[in-house]
Amino acid sequence: MTTTLLDGKIASEAFKNEIAAKVTKLKEQGKRAPHLAAILVGTDGASETYVASKERSCVQVGFNSTLLRFPETLTENELLLEIEKINNNNEIDGLIVQLPLPKHIDEEKITDAILPSKDVDGFHTYNAGQLSKGMDTFIPATPFGIVKLLKYYNIETKGKNVVVIGRSMIVGRPMSILLSSSNSDYGNATVTLAHRYTKNLEGFTKNADIVVVAVGIPFFLKKEMVKEGAVVIDVGITRVEDKTKKRGFRLAGDVDFENVKEVASYITPVPGGVGLMTILGLLENTLQAYQTKHG
Ligand code: NAD
Repeated sequence: MTTTLLDGKIASEAFKNEIAAKVTKLKEQGKRAPHLAAILVGTDGASETYVASKERSCVQVGFNSTLLRFPETLTENELLLEIEKINNNNEIDGLIVQLPLPKHIDEEKITDAILPSKDVDGFHTYNAGQLSKGMDTFIPATPFGIVKLLKYYNIETKGKNVVVIGRSMIVGRPMSILLSSSNSDYGNATVTLAHRYTKNLEGFTKNADIVVVAVGIPFFLKKEMVKEGAVVIDVGITRVEDKTKKRGFRLAGDVDFENVKEVASYITPVPGGVGLMTILGLLENTLQAYQTKHG
């Protein structure tokens, strides 16, 4: 089987160049650039990495970017006040609050405190509702990035059998909604949404033309579970111990990549696949928030 790598670096760079060109035009017209703010509470290693990468990408496309850092001890009320300040700040178009939050803070409450028009993560209940009704909204960054990646590589979803493994509100569930929607760009697939209680998962995945895996278990999807010629999208990112690396770990996906690539027609690597597209999704949403406000 000839396997094509779905390269998140190549695809995200191409889309970022398009965004950068739009921002250059705005600046030439004397307008301010789109502005993304991120709130980081505590010092979770993976969150630090994501946020740093988001900041770099903002700079790359010419966006303004603000990172607000708070200690682990920040109270829920204090965080709500910070969100309110950004909600009222006309110079900021999009806000993300990096998850996970410390246990004493209710993530639902925080997500729903962000103004829906600035909710570029698309996690607000209002935006999740809009998405499920097939209406215009902010698509959560990871599923958004995945549909952009499929589009970049001209992978058709119409009429395809898709299995999405994992039903989280940030990845699996919105992914299943998008692919099963009637949107001609990325929808019209027949989607099975599998989760930890799915029986005979292999029975579903073996018939799938496209498999999206978002479970957070390294090497979960094995070669035997995948149909010859299937498209395999690996969302998982887990730090696994690796003493040969200076930092003591490496990143592993949910797919047993080395073996699955023998049967897949297209496959995403980890790192270098979905993660980079997620950041692209966030940039697209920030631009959309800006344009909705400024016309
Ligand atoms: P989550 O922990 O919220 O959800 C995991 C899902 O996997 C659940 O719905 C659960 O039912 C399902 N699951 C668990 N065990 C299973 C099993 N044995 N069989 C079938 N389903 C099973 O996870 P999440 O937030 O969606 O993240 C999943 C993974 O994706 C993590 O590794 C996370 O780090 C990664 N992630 C990556 C990106 C990216 O940009 N690449 C973005 C978000 C999350």
